[in-house]
Amino acid sequence: MVSSHLQNRVRRWLFGRDLSLWYDQRYRLPLPSLEARTGFDARRADFAAWYLLEQNVVRPGRVHRPSRIDYAELSRVHAPELLESLDRPETLARIFSVDPGDVRPAELMTTVRLACGATVEAARACLRPQPRGVARRELNLLGGFHHAGIARAGGFCAVNDVAVAVAALREDGFRGRVAILDLDAHPPDGTAECLRSDGEVWIGSISGSDWGPLPGVDETVLPEGVGDDGYLRALEGLLSRMPAAQIAFVLAGGDVLSGDALGKLGLTLAGARERDLRVADAVFRVPSVWLPAGGYGQDAWRALAGTGLALGVRSRAPIPDGYDPLARRYTRIAAKLSPAELGGAAGEDELVLEELGQRRAPNLLLGFYTAEGLELALERYGILGGLRRLGYGPFRVVVANEALGDRARLLGGGEDGGEHLLIESVLEKRQVGGAAVLYLHWLTLRHPLARFSESRPRLPDQEVPGLGIAREMSTLFAQMALRLGLAGVAFRPAAYHTAYAGRVQLRFVDPARQGRFEALVRDLAGVPLPEATSAVAQGRVRLDGKPYAWEPDEMVLWLRPHEQDPAAVAAAREAARFTLSR
Ligand SMILES: [Zn+2]
Repeated sequence: MVSSHLQNRVRRWLFGRDLSLWYDQRYRLPLPSLEARTGFDARRADFAAWYLLEQNVVRPGRVHRPSRIDYAELSRVHAPELLESLDRPETLARIFSVDPGDVRPAELMTTVRLACGATVEAARACLRPQPRGVARRELNLLGGFHHAGIARAGGFCAVNDVAVAVAALREDGFRGRVAILDLDAHPPDGTAECLRSDGEVWIGSISGSDWGPLPGVDETVLPEGVGDDGYLRALEGLLSRMPAAQIAFVLAGGDVLSGDALGKLGLTLAGARERDLRVADAVFRVPSVWLPAGGYGQDAWRALAGTGLALGVRSRAPIPDGYDPLARRYTRIAAKLSPAELGGAAGEDELVLEELGQRRAPNLLLGFYTAEGLELALERYGILGGLRRLGYGPFRVVVANEALGDRARLLGGGEDGGEHLLIESVLEKRQVGGAAVLYLHWLTLRHPLARFSESRPRLPDQEVPGLGIAREMSTLFAQMALRLGLAGVAFRPAAYHTAYAGRVQLRFVDPARQGRFEALVRDLAGVPLPEATSAVAQGRVRLDGKPYAWEPDEMVLWLRPHEQDPAAVAAAREAARFTLSR
């Protein structure tokens, strides 16, 4: 069997054109509450970039880091009032549907300006003459902010990167026709407004939401839940009406997928890939800039990586179901962290000093990690970098050995001048479900510079808002367990939302308990998480008509094959019916 890695190299050569990627790790929106509030996973660009590089879809030398767009380029399209309003937390909070207390304007605008800069640079790059006369393709992993108009912003769009790019090309003297294929699940209202006066711009759109007539746009609005076939038929129609152009912008929206929190179309991942392949064929001879636009669900990164697979290697191969880009990334980073770096090399001199009583042995976490080693690991995994963007640093790790287990704390300076507790965990090696696992007695992820509000309510066990890095931390604990030869990571979720956050990676040890939990998730679907977890905590949820009290049993992330009887889980799930009383 040929590995997909090698296959992709061959296919890259066969299809003859290297895909360029535009990406920066600061593409991750520094908004910890974004995912819980909107379904948008800020890791989307990271996941797609890591996957495309790992699978050899794109060469490392073809990944470009953009520069921040400057004010002069933005002001060719946008009104000064709009641009000036973008340094206010309230404005940005409204645009991104989060709370003003969550927004650090300069940091958030860095993300937006990098993405916009990339769209502009990509557009300029793909118009440069190519050696074999082939048309270049550039994929920017963040952009397609099509709801931003001349003087208004909204719907996750602060500035309109495509309109700014078209204005930049015009300024450079480019007079050719521009085709904009907007395949996001929502209509391109902002783009249409910004480019209304450019007679050489054609905009085609297929969406699943009717926002009224959009002058100047070849618009198709499909019925809700249309699915792959209906969508692809509409796409063929639109492509047949697309005029010849000298550059194309393609908004390959990830919110076309079924299950998306905001899009209503209902495509499969295979359908979205087919969309990208057909568009790639249609613009084969046209230099093109590809953008992800929206995508508000767990699979949005797969749609974006799929766009890369379609463009780079013309592949229909699905990304395997269980593929976890974060676990893969952390495994690669872990391989470069030596035991001596993590556990501290207690050199002979130090041992002698210890014996002489002149130096105390450092406190170790789980008998292995030093505080310095933990700090290094948090840096390498990118956790500290993310926290710096939220306004924290410098950092300090403190380890203490206690009766219950080992306590590790990460403290960070804050912009307010104080030092704050950011991460605290109490860990122990323990037997669970017949195996030695890493047991988490306690874990808290704290963002004390953020504030609770009506739109960001306090969850039952929270003192301050969370950091939005639960997935990073559980992946990091899994790496720790692997290093220490343990079979998994276990904890006891004290509330429904904690179990819910871990539901993709962790399972309850007892199959009947797992089944009941799955039934609870099923029956509370559609209830916002803060409301659901409060209802469970306050006894307002009934199981088969009787008041239900949360069962804080052990959940485990198994790192070795661990059979759980699926029939027992399913039987318990089907037998349980939860209802919510007001
Ligand atoms: Zn959208």
